[in-house]
Amino acid sequence: MYTKIKIKLELSKIIKRIVEEMKVEKNVNNESAFETLVTTIISQNTNDKNTMKAVELLKKEIGLNIESILSAKKEKIIECLKPAGLYNVKAPRIIELAKKIKYELGDERKLDIMDDEEIKEFLSKVKGIGPKTIDIFLAFKRKRNIIPVDTHVSRVSKRLEIADKKDKYFEIRRKLEEIVPEEERLKTHFALIMFGRKICKAKKPRCMICPVKDDCPSSKQFLSS
Ligand code: SF4
Repeated sequence: MYTKIKIKLELSKIIKRIVEEMKVEKNVNNESAFETLVTTIISQNTNDKNTMKAVELLKKEIGLNIESILSAKKEKIIECLKPAGLYNVKAPRIIELAKKIKYELGDERKLDIMDDEEIKEFLSKVKGIGPKTIDIFLAFKRKRNIIPVDTHVSRVSKRLEIADKKDKYFEIRRKLEEIVPEEERLKTHFALIMFGRKICKAKKPRCMICPVKDDCPSSKQFLSS
């Protein structure tokens, strides 16, 4: 028992150091609920730069709101999504989401008053919306103290052995949340993403300059290769 608590304390300190090093600013999200969901769909399997290119094109050429998406031609939406890839998959998902909100809820603002369970049930029925997108929605729009797990958060957690290699989404999230205080969770989500992009990269992690290399169980493997 004592050892388990000690390990958690150590891991908690490592995460804290990463958060301090990444100097994450407080995130202010002024997007509408629909915009947040669409941006998350566009971001699947692509990087931030390409996501933002596609989002900006969509805003400029069509408008990022339910009515404009529903009155636009699918081909035009596809054209805007090209910088982010998988446009033939993402465009129908965005249209389906817009239809679902319009015809089942009537008003996008209902997303602001539904409780978390209702939101999860509603969104999980839209193709292409999985636990990460729902968590991002709840964390950003509802200010829930959760750590959405993207590819960077997952990789860093596994390399630091906070999570096991075989762990799936909810196990990784639970293990992270066990060692991160509630009020620090959103900041930690951003810090781990930034850390994964800049230092603990997927292909060639920069272990030499990593602030937690002395405590990382994976550093030897990468430093010797
Ligand atoms: S030491 Fe290397 S593998 Fe470990 S967290 Fe740092 S960059 Fe990632």
